[in-house]
Amino acid sequence: MTAVPSHLDSSSKAAAFRALDDQYSAHNYHPLPVVIAEASGAWMTDVDGRRHLDFLAGYSALNFGHGHPALVAAATEQLGRVTLTSRAFHHDQLGPFCQELAELTGTDRVLPMNSGAEAVESAIKIARKWAYQVKGVPENQAEIIVAGSNFHGRTTTIVSFSTDPDARNEFGPFTPGFRITEYGDAAAVEAAINERTAAVLVEPIQGEAGVVVPPADYLPRLRRLCDEHGALLIADEIQSGLARTGELLASAHDGIRADLYTLGKALGGGILPVSAVVGRDDVIGVLQPGQHGSTFGGNPLACAVGRAVIRLLSTGEFQERSRELGAHMHARLGELVGRGALEVRGRGLWAGVEIAPGGPTGRQASEALLERGVLCKETQDTTLRLAPPLVISREDLDTGLDAITEVLAR
Ligand SMILES: *Cc1c(COP(=O)(O)O)cnc(C)c1O
Repeated sequence: MTAVPSHLDSSSKAAAFRALDDQYSAHNYHPLPVVIAEASGAWMTDVDGRRHLDFLAGYSALNFGHGHPALVAAATEQLGRVTLTSRAFHHDQLGPFCQELAELTGTDRVLPMNSGAEAVESAIKIARKWAYQVKGVPENQAEIIVAGSNFHGRTTTIVSFSTDPDARNEFGPFTPGFRITEYGDAAAVEAAINERTAAVLVEPIQGEAGVVVPPADYLPRLRRLCDEHGALLIADEIQSGLARTGELLASAHDGIRADLYTLGKALGGGILPVSAVVGRDDVIGVLQPGQHGSTFGGNPLACAVGRAVIRLLSTGEFQERSRELGAHMHARLGELVGRGALEVRGRGLWAGVEIAPGGPTGRQASEALLERGVLCKETQDTTLRLAPPLVISREDLDTGLDAITEVLAR
């Protein structure tokens, strides 16, 4: 008889924790059957003492790995000073955080929020107010053009323009004012854009959809269409930004600048939720006191951690690691195409591996990788999404890629 793997052994500590989750936490996730107790760098240790390589990095929230010393030091230091003032008062972290983030991203102004969905909601509100005040769209008629298969978060307004039935069904009635076009199809945007268009909202690379990279002329054509029609281009870089693709912002690969960017995930260093809308002064400048806000947005602890993240990003070291390790990862994954993989997509240390028909499902592949001590997660039914922390060593990256090869190669 073969030994029962530790994560499935009902006598293990993990089983007890999984049972508690199952009984008391809402069933809105279907996690792999592993229970993490601690983590450092690219490694996580489960409650039974088994070590696993992290090939997901919290969907890119952990670009700098678990417990990066500079981020933990910044958080610890700020914990002992002041953590929350609310925006009723100024504090000494907000101005420097906004200045440093604006300088890093080459933008003018920053609206700090918490979760990614809040940043997207905020960008939508800004774009609508800008359309009424600046573009002169008649009140309540502003439209925002979005892409099919998008993922921008889970709020009621955001799921209103999702094309994923799970994300959307039975959560209506939905917020109007969005037009959905096929991702990658600039002609569809050209057909949809008009004098009521406030903005085009798009992910430069679609993460949840399976790390989908659009045609090279897509974003440049959207940029031109927005310029011609006086609409804003909003790039949702919550997952693609902050070094994940080898550039600070993934839209730089396409040589374009957006009017607004939404940032999140890695902005909080994997320590706490920090998000922001960054962009043009004359656009974010439409917000006046009382028109938008957040109790925790821009709090001193978030700003202190965000500033440490900005310092890490300002050297370019992580962008370069993503480029170099990413080239290696894509070269190795490329060997699987036609041998278990249909297609490998992505940029930098970020890949969507489309599993060939007849192979395991994405879920089965993730479970087989868990057996081998590599943690990643499927997206869609047949795609493995790989996003190791950018601090991973080349040796550990190869260990994970060996396991992926074992699981997929045919
Ligand atoms: C994760 C994500 C969001 C939502 O962020 P949350 O912090 O989960 O609300 C929005 N847009 C993109 C592109 C994302 O990847």
